[in-house]
Amino acid sequence: MARQVRRAFKYRFYPTVEQAAELSRTFGCVRLVYNKALEERTRAWCGEQRRISYVESSAALTHWKKTPELAFLAEVSCVPLQQALRHLQTAFSNFFAKRAAHPRFKSRKRSRASAEYTRSAFTWRDGHLTLAKMAEPLDVRWSRPLPEGAEPSTVTVSRDSANPRHERRDRARLARAQRELSRKAPGSANRDKARRRLARVHARIADRRRDFLHKLSTRLVRENQTVVIEDLTVGNLLKNRTLARAISDAAWRELRTMLEYKCAWYGRDLVVIDRWFPSSKLCGACGTVRAELPLDVREWTCGCGSLHDRDVNAARNILTAGLAVTACGDGVRPQRDTSRTGRSSAKQETQRATAGIPCL
Ligand SMILES: [Zn+2]
Repeated sequence: MARQVRRAFKYRFYPTVEQAAELSRTFGCVRLVYNKALEERTRAWCGEQRRISYVESSAALTHWKKTPELAFLAEVSCVPLQQALRHLQTAFSNFFAKRAAHPRFKSRKRSRASAEYTRSAFTWRDGHLTLAKMAEPLDVRWSRPLPEGAEPSTVTVSRDSANPRHERRDRARLARAQRELSRKAPGSANRDKARRRLARVHARIADRRRDFLHKLSTRLVRENQTVVIEDLTVGNLLKNRTLARAISDAAWRELRTMLEYKCAWYGRDLVVIDRWFPSSKLCGACGTVRAELPLDVREWTCGCGSLHDRDVNAARNILTAGLAVTACGDGVRPQRDTSRTGRSSAKQETQRATAGIPCL
């Protein structure tokens, strides 16, 4: 007798531009439907002590889709919208049974954007997962395999941000602590206190940064067989001595150290590209190298007509160079297992590694 067991597995995927746009629309519609249904239920409960059922909410959704202002709700998959109403139903059941507080509105900023797809809203074929309203399967990193014979019954997609959340607030705290220190008279007890406060702010920023770099490096190493990075340190430090640049150079070195030992632990290849490689100035499409490209130019068009995002183009060039190194095994790193070295899988991550770090 076969017993069915439901388990949840969490994987990361990287949407294409079209998929990201579709998901973003869907997240927005899910939030709107949830909030609108919550508003109606709250009005009925507070005004008339009347409970609205899931069936009534679902009928209301059908009605909203027919109005000119909310017709756009019909453009996304209807399943995540229905699931949002089911979740609201569960939240109200818990509220009425006194197991939970009254449901709260979903906020664009504070709530986690998510959408739930049940079996009718995705296809699962040969290990490829395709969501409703999408032409291509999702580029999922199967960081651990699904159990033998397992079939997904529900797919929940949620969005997280790859950058540290506290960065702006930390910077404001740092500026304030520095201002306070500069106002205190030299040699005074208050100045000493202000100095200690400033040191604490610095320590907390360093802790957060290290925590973020640990998460980032673990993910890069777990999800990819080969990680290619650019050796950025000395050259850039000499060119530009501003504090912000120095901090991000320190972060870069820290990330690189973590990648080195984690790649060794997990048996991955780390390829370091020479810092004199013209990663930014090289057109990835035609191979032309520009004479110069000032640091403030974020986008440029090559003579061949290709429009480049500075960081994305550089990341692609670094990846291509790194994979060429592993393919001909010219001594930088021994090659391990080419069958698992997916070009596209490393590409995304190289983009993050080079594009994501300078903003730390
Ligand atoms: Zn070109």
